[in-house]
Amino acid sequence: MVLDRLRRATPTKDPKKIPDGLWLKCPSCSKTVFKRLVEERLDCCPECNHHFKMPSGRRIANLIDDGTWVEWDANLVSGDPLGFVDGKPYPERIKQQQAKTGLKDAVLCGTGTMGSHPVGLGVMDFEFNGGSMGSVVGEKLTRMIERSTAAKMPAIIVSASGGARMQEGAISLMQMTKTSAALARHAEKGLPYISVLTNPTMAGVMASYASLGDVIIAEPKALIGFTGARVIQETIKQELPEGFQTSEFLFKHGQLDLIINRQDMKAELARIVGYLMAGRR
Ligand SMILES: [Zn+2]
Repeated sequence: MVLDRLRRATPTKDPKKIPDGLWLKCPSCSKTVFKRLVEERLDCCPECNHHFKMPSGRRIANLIDDGTWVEWDANLVSGDPLGFVDGKPYPERIKQQQAKTGLKDAVLCGTGTMGSHPVGLGVMDFEFNGGSMGSVVGEKLTRMIERSTAAKMPAIIVSASGGARMQEGAISLMQMTKTSAALARHAEKGLPYISVLTNPTMAGVMASYASLGDVIIAEPKALIGFTGARVIQETIKQELPEGFQTSEFLFKHGQLDLIINRQDMKAELARIVGYLMAGRR
């Protein structure tokens, strides 16, 4: 009722009359939706269930049991190993991203319980420089995995990334091997690693830890792949199937284990962790 009244009171045809920040337009169904309702549904559209990008802090609050989160390596910040300038110097870009997001870099890592199971968790944030993976993202995730191995806990990474961070060049690419090696050592101890792919998970991130999960889960309709469709098409000179870089296509072709709605993610992850860790503790 309240929503109906608000809808009538706020003609959507005139954007000037919409109070700033109260409404947003869903990019999937194009409907104008009440922002508070979207937030209540964990940043999903109340009309079509489109999954908006979710800030890392909100995601952790949704996945980890109240009052149990302990953040690790909160103050790791990037250097400027290459003196990289693209429009602006890299240190300036980092400062700008930090001011915009309130984050130090593109991932938050730590531990807490998930449905009473202790887990190590890393959550990427697309808002910070496109969720790009540089030395800080790689190092924080590696430490999170190593601590999870030492504590005999499952490791979970929620990815949201355009790929490796250009501004740190080869050092960004080295994070692919570093995180993968840490995951291999985690697996040697018989401990599970669950990878959660959200929109978008691309390039160097998809080509390393994001695709190495014992269980790989995606949110619905996420863009997942290595490189952009146009580049692939130009390289292989073949027509590409419709929607081949979506969760649904990858699930159908066996590259994903599950597609889970964000509203169900915590319960499902806790259930999977419970199965995989049964008898270990
Ligand atoms: Zn929608």
